[in-house]
Amino acid sequence: MSGRHREPERTCVGCRTSQPRAELLRYVLSPQQQILVDYRQRLPGRGVYTCCDLDCVVKAVERKQLQRGLKADSFQIDKDQLVATIMETLIQRIENLLGMARKSGQAVSGGQAVIGGLKGTESFAFVLLSVDISTGIADKVKGAAKKQQVAVFQMLSKSRIGEILGKGERSVAALQSGQLADAILLEVQRYKRMSREN
Ligand SMILES: [Zn+2]
Repeated sequence: MSGRHREPERTCVGCRTSQPRAELLRYVLSPQQQILVDYRQRLPGRGVYTCCDLDCVVKAVERKQLQRGLKADSFQIDKDQLVATIMETLIQRIENLLGMARKSGQAVSGGQAVIGGLKGTESFAFVLLSVDISTGIADKVKGAAKKQQVAVFQMLSKSRIGEILGKGERSVAALQSGQLADAILLEVQRYKRMSREN
């Protein structure tokens, strides 16, 4: 086998391991001399990479590897701000993907509909609960999801979920299995690694 089809790899300046480029975060220096997180990895210029992981981002900034890699040694980077920016970007990605799922009719929302789907023939990839869901409903949905071994995660407010799905407030939503759901789950994992949840 030739290595030609292998995914290109880059080294994380935080932990120094090589990873597939697509899984890393890329940083570039903008013409205005600001450090940008190049999430789509398309911006021109020298790029520096870290894992999408809180430890790696913090190490990269504290040890000035990020600054050095961008030839911006004298830069002061506020690491909390940088982490917040990355988290915001991840949330935006998840929201966009949820919006796409809505358009393609792959999203189900509302406690009853989701529980009904879990008990029925729907094949859900995951269930999303809002952060402001009432405990009673949350427990019911979690119980039903657990029986079907469907992943559950909590993110966004019910008004935001409703807005994305083109409804009123929605504290429960589920996505049918498929590429979009897989893409969202990937971003959710990255979000968790950045926020150090679990
Ligand atoms: Zn790393």
